[in-house]
Amino acid sequence: MENQKIADIFNRIADLLDIRGDNPFRIRSYRAAARTIEDLPENLAGAAGEGKDLTDLPGIGKDLAAKIAEIVQSGRLKFLDDLKKTLPPGLPELLRLEGVGPKKVKLFYEEAGIDSIDSLDRAARAGRLRGLDRMGEKTEEKIVRAIESYRKTAGRFRLDTGFAAAEEITAYLEPAADDLVPAGSLRRRRETVGDLDILAVTRDGPGLMERFVGQPETTAVLAQGSTRSAVRVENGLQVDLRVMAREEFGSALLYFTGSKAHNIALRRRGRERGLKVSEYGIFRGEKRIAGETEEECYRALGLPWIPPELRENRGEIEAAEQNRLPRLIEPEAIRGDLQMHSTASDGKESVLEMARAAEKRGYRYIAITDHSQAVRVAGGLNEKELAEHLKEIDKAGKKCPGIRILKGVEVDILADGTLDLQDEILRECEVVVASIHYNFNLPEKEMTRRIVRGLKNPQVNIFGHPTGRLLLQREPYSFDFEEVVKAAVGEGVTLEINAHPARLDLNDVLARRAKELGARLVIDTDAHSSLQLGLMEYGVFTARRAWLEKDDVINTYPLKKLLDVLNRPLR
Ligand SMILES: [Zn+2]
Repeated sequence: MENQKIADIFNRIADLLDIRGDNPFRIRSYRAAARTIEDLPENLAGAAGEGKDLTDLPGIGKDLAAKIAEIVQSGRLKFLDDLKKTLPPGLPELLRLEGVGPKKVKLFYEEAGIDSIDSLDRAARAGRLRGLDRMGEKTEEKIVRAIESYRKTAGRFRLDTGFAAAEEITAYLEPAADDLVPAGSLRRRRETVGDLDILAVTRDGPGLMERFVGQPETTAVLAQGSTRSAVRVENGLQVDLRVMAREEFGSALLYFTGSKAHNIALRRRGRERGLKVSEYGIFRGEKRIAGETEEECYRALGLPWIPPELRENRGEIEAAEQNRLPRLIEPEAIRGDLQMHSTASDGKESVLEMARAAEKRGYRYIAITDHSQAVRVAGGLNEKELAEHLKEIDKAGKKCPGIRILKGVEVDILADGTLDLQDEILRECEVVVASIHYNFNLPEKEMTRRIVRGLKNPQVNIFGHPTGRLLLQREPYSFDFEEVVKAAVGEGVTLEINAHPARLDLNDVLARRAKELGARLVIDTDAHSSLQLGLMEYGVFTARRAWLEKDDVINTYPLKKLLDVLNRPLR
């Protein structure tokens, strides 16, 4: 079990207590515990399993330690289940709306009887919120917009949530299955996933299904049969399990991996060749001519195997037919990570700890890029502090000679397009990531001008998390993407694919377009702890969905070539 899951449960409790107007001290202690757990470099479930005393952790007393043990053992927490029953069932969902926190939910509920997204939507549209404390027409408009954007994404989960669930469930089912593969959008590595579709081959269908519906994560059994069952698990995700015969496993995998558009195109192609394509195989008349593996299914259709990340009917079938599928970038090609934070700003570990962890991953170089002064909440650095910090990075470099620690900074592009730090100090850095963290709401033209001006500063190497979106939470700010990419190409600025599963920014479509326009890309984790260096794979998934090859991504380069590209001499 991942730390994040335990932290989520504690945050959930804090939210619910907050809505109930519980003791603020108690609420704070749950939130603090959640933060501690999120940032732990070690796996908490593992530590608990080894019998470690969890009360040694900051902010974890006897009560919380017992709760952690219960979560690790049973996958859930009775205290949370009971707490949920004390509130209307639709109320906690309001917290998923952008700009709506527990205090507002409490106010809506107590003052206006609002107990669900639907009733909030009606109240906002009817102008019934403006009488409430510090709320006006503007707030109502914002809430209507937040609900619209939430409804677009409702029922979807971040890719890392899907992965964690799939891993946990397949590990649990393994003893009862001969083969087990999660399909669907998860296998295509889409940035969000809806339902989870797992395919299995087994000699004991009923036994596997029994195990599946009885797993500790299950909160509701939606269907139970001998070849298909469906359950809902703790975080609301629906999981389907299908048992297939060995000879149809490949065609089923192809079918349930999708996308729908890709499958439709394959079926059409089959028809043109007198073939019937279904999840049970590829048939000529009554005769199955392929089905056991995906490879033989594609071959029957006159195609080489197409990687799942490309299966969106965005030209992959044509490319496959002409033998010009891209050689997609592999995780092993990554040689370093060019955005991460240390304790100098809001990171949890020292430069040296980050470097040693990166070295263990086999990296040849990293850049330490702490925040600049504008990001006050993150302890951003001013010129003098950054100068000191750069010396610290050099010192750490001497202690860790196996990996090159590049001196860097993540400098804010201010509202007028100037940078948050003077050029003199930026010149001392080997990697300058420029990003936007404030003033997201500028009109499109002004935002475009701001970004282009920022990128034109000759010290800037990388444009960090270029669109500013947070998945399922915050829309991108508006700007003219093509114009910004053209400016980046002209200035030799590399565009980031931020690998954090909450960002994945640039996304697949924009990263592919950026490449078409001649841009170079970099995949960074933006890690705030050494554990988060492992998020790199999510960035690689996005890059693969963007048809990127190794050479499109600068952190696959050897150090010298990298520094050439960054226009920094090798020191
Ligand atoms: Zn940032």
